[in-house]
Amino acid sequence: MTFWLDSAERTEFLSLKDGIEVDVIIIGGGIAGISTAFMLKQQRYKVALIEVNCIVRDITSGTTAKITFTSSLIYGSILSKFGKSFALKFYKANLDAFNTIKNILEENNIDCEYRNSPLYLYASNERYFVLIQKEHESLTELGIDSELVDDLPSPHNGFGICHENQAELYPKKYLNFLSHYIDGDGSFIFEKTRVLNVEDIDETDLNNNIAENNKNNKNNKNNKKITL
Ligand SMILES: Cc1cc2nc3c(=O)[nH]c(=O)nc-3n(C[C@H](O)[C@H](O)[C@H](O)COP(=O)(O)OP(=O)(O)OC[C@H]3O[C@@H](n4cnc5c(N)ncnc54)[C@H](O)[C@@H]3O)c2cc1C
Repeated sequence: MTFWLDSAERTEFLSLKDGIEVDVIIIGGGIAGISTAFMLKQQRYKVALIEVNCIVRDITSGTTAKITFTSSLIYGSILSKFGKSFALKFYKANLDAFNTIKNILEENNIDCEYRNSPLYLYASNERYFVLIQKEHESLTELGIDSELVDDLPSPHNGFGICHENQAELYPKKYLNFLSHYIDGDGSFIFEKTRVLNVEDIDETDLNNNIAENNKNNKNNKNNKKITL
């Protein structure tokens, strides 16, 4: 149990039932699966989100609740291993994710204590100051805004990098809103249901009921068999 789970509304969903037909199945009810299901339903797809345990319980339940486009000293490492173009793709992916969350909560007026805040990556031990300096050089090479600082917010001491305009939110409140939106009107969240296998299958292998549907949809070649 974490603070996030303890202090927000507890949600509960049933296990998978028979006779469900949807456009898309999403496996896993962490922030990635819930966000995917939410956006697909917004685009009028019927979705089923399937979670082996309870949603927002795995890694997502233990986050530090920051929404940032960096974490640790990552850009220097990506730049040296994969080059500038790849590092910029990584940056853009993070920025897109950041903006997606911001747009979702603004458009839906979600009360999840979202607020802007700076992110500090810092070292207290002088031995590591050089790593901070190198990361800042990599960020500068990539054109990513950041500032070297030695006046960290109290009670922290050391030398670090400050990224302005990052954010934090209350993950469980945010994800509760998305989950309530997903479940209903032909879309579902199922908990305590483990997906065991996903395989491509030929249309001829589909059971009679699904094959009947496929007769009306010749373009649907991408059938997947999900074993639960
Ligand atoms: C200590 C810590 C702090 C972090 N802090 C932050 C932070 O502040 N900000 C940030 O952006 N990131 C943070 N991260 C990283 C972040 O938590 C993860 O990137 C993100 O929460 C992962 O979400 P997810 O949906 O991919 O995975 P998960 O939350 O792990 O969700 C995956 C879900 O899939 C389910 N599942 C798996 N297999 C099956 C199956 N066969 N059938 C059905 N369901 C299945 C699991 O039960 C689980 O619920 C942190 C990570 C850690 C460990």
